[in-house]
Amino acid sequence: MQPIFNGYDKNYGAALLCPSCGGYYLHHERVEIFERSEDADTGLHVAVTQGKVTTDNNLAGNPSGRRHGLSVYLSCEDCPAVSVLHISQHKGFTNVNLLETELSLTSSRNGFSFQNTVTDDAIKG
Ligand SMILES: [Zn+2]
Repeated sequence: MQPIFNGYDKNYGAALLCPSCGGYYLHHERVEIFERSEDADTGLHVAVTQGKVTTDNNLAGNPSGRRHGLSVYLSCEDCPAVSVLHISQHKGFTNVNLLETELSLTSSRNGFSFQNTVTDDAIKG
């Protein structure tokens, strides 16, 4: 869905709103970076969450069908939604998308973990 922002401030940018409730307070819980050459079958995947980084060559979940992609998983302070912000390269375009997921948090903000494994199936189109 189209990301919705609340205003713009030259010092802070624009606040992204929760796609489920429209709340302002979205927390970055997991960041994934996908890097590859055009149409390559393999590349570099880096995931950062809970103070840990993992790297592999698995491009499953890359929001770009052909190039680089970035996924930021966001939890909402005002509702139980976990959404994902995708930034993807397609040809010469950089596309931004915000999707709701089937994921949920299993514990407090200090102990974030996904109840489900992050998979393409967990992300609603
Ligand atoms: Zn929300």
